[in-house]
Amino acid sequence: MPDPSPRPNRNVHSGPPPDLKSRGSERRSRPAGPVPFVVIPRAKGGKERRFAVHPSRVFLVLFTCFVLGLLIATGLFAGYWVLSDQTQVRDDYLELREEVEDLRGELTSLKQRSRAQLSSPTEVPAASKAEDDPSMTGLNLPVLSEKIPVIRVALLRTSGSITLEGEGLNIHQGPNQAIPMPRGRALIKPRKDGVWVEGVGIIPKGSRIENRVGPIRIGKKEYPGILELHEEDGRLLLVNEVELERYVQGVVASELPASWGLEAKKAQAVAARTYAIMQQNNSTKSYDLESTVDDQVYSGRPADSSSRAAVTTTHGEVLSRGGHLVSAWYHSACAGQTEVPDNVWPERTSNGNASVKCGFCGQVGRKLWTANISPDELLEALKSNGEKVTQVTGLHIRERSLSGRVSLLDLVTDQGAIRLRGNRFRELLGWNRVRSTRFESKVEGNGFEISGRGAGHGVGMCQWGARTMAASDHDYQDILGHYYPGAGLTRIY
Ligand SMILES: [Zn+2]
Repeated sequence: MPDPSPRPNRNVHSGPPPDLKSRGSERRSRPAGPVPFVVIPRAKGGKERRFAVHPSRVFLVLFTCFVLGLLIATGLFAGYWVLSDQTQVRDDYLELREEVEDLRGELTSLKQRSRAQLSSPTEVPAASKAEDDPSMTGLNLPVLSEKIPVIRVALLRTSGSITLEGEGLNIHQGPNQAIPMPRGRALIKPRKDGVWVEGVGIIPKGSRIENRVGPIRIGKKEYPGILELHEEDGRLLLVNEVELERYVQGVVASELPASWGLEAKKAQAVAARTYAIMQQNNSTKSYDLESTVDDQVYSGRPADSSSRAAVTTTHGEVLSRGGHLVSAWYHSACAGQTEVPDNVWPERTSNGNASVKCGFCGQVGRKLWTANISPDELLEALKSNGEKVTQVTGLHIRERSLSGRVSLLDLVTDQGAIRLRGNRFRELLGWNRVRSTRFESKVEGNGFEISGRGAGHGVGMCQWGARTMAASDHDYQDILGHYYPGAGLTRIY
């Protein structure tokens, strides 16, 4: 094969043609001397190309290779980094998603358990040991019973006569001593030695009157169950002994207007039932509860159909927390935030009740009320509190609770400043005179103008809030859960 003529290189002078045997080994280092050629063989019949291997070219080639290599390496590294980073991000995302799913599952399960506890009241759990802070707990839950308990309510006190009516009226002076009242009416009057009954004479204190065919009527009021005749401070005291469920019907009908929603009434029924049992356990008197706002209103108004339904659908359900009965206080309207019981009744246990925000009593809660209190009125209030004062000249609010209610105030008198708790101040002046302790005070004329918002002590369920919640499709479990945080429902009979 002929040796093709080398093409002259423009940049380097011609040198002797390379030995054919050296083809393929042009890149080998050569000794210093004439500039070597790089011979590039061509395809068959083509010409061989020669390049002079100049040091600057070698450097350029090597540098270019180096730069290219660097770029490729950087590219690869960047690609790897991006990919690996994406993988990491994806892994993190998947992991987070799993965690979210787990949490969601846990939340659903918690919700279901909570709903199950609320909607399907369980049997009464064994009374838990008082391991908790005693100030945070209440009464142990009553033992599950098949029998509906009986509650005793102080209905009225009078030193005058009173007429009881009922078609099947009977007077029981003792066991097996029933005296029927043929005219279906009994006029009774307190006496020192007992109770005088028209047409019968004197019967002993503690005697009982029942109507075998319906409720006992006193004027327009109706009371189911039995009336006990007691004496208290020289006056006749009528105590209604009534099955708890019938009593709760009467409370719901008295506490809430008939037009309110069923779920609000159910919440009220559970709260009233729980409260009644709590008071029964705390009572040291011949009765368990008052029939007024001092406890809960039981006015003898016949229960409307939805009040009856609210009670029957929550039959035997009470509020519980940690094996204890919840102190189920409630009030009319909180004006935005409920109160902790300690600020109202420091002598009572808080029983785990918390202050919660309430955006539900709205305009009713926010509505401003005012009361103009004269110095004489304050003087009488202090006298009824046992203070020997003759003049009141000032009223200063000293301390407020976190919910904004007056917890302490001073009345400036001729005997110095007399400090009262906000709730006691309300009680002395009248619950309806000072409608809540969320008030301001200023001097007005010779007396003081007290202006405030909300109604009631502010602890526990806000009734107007419950009404709005019920109207917004919340059920009674939601309502009770909102105002008694952490509480559940338990059926005790
Ligand atoms: Zn409220």
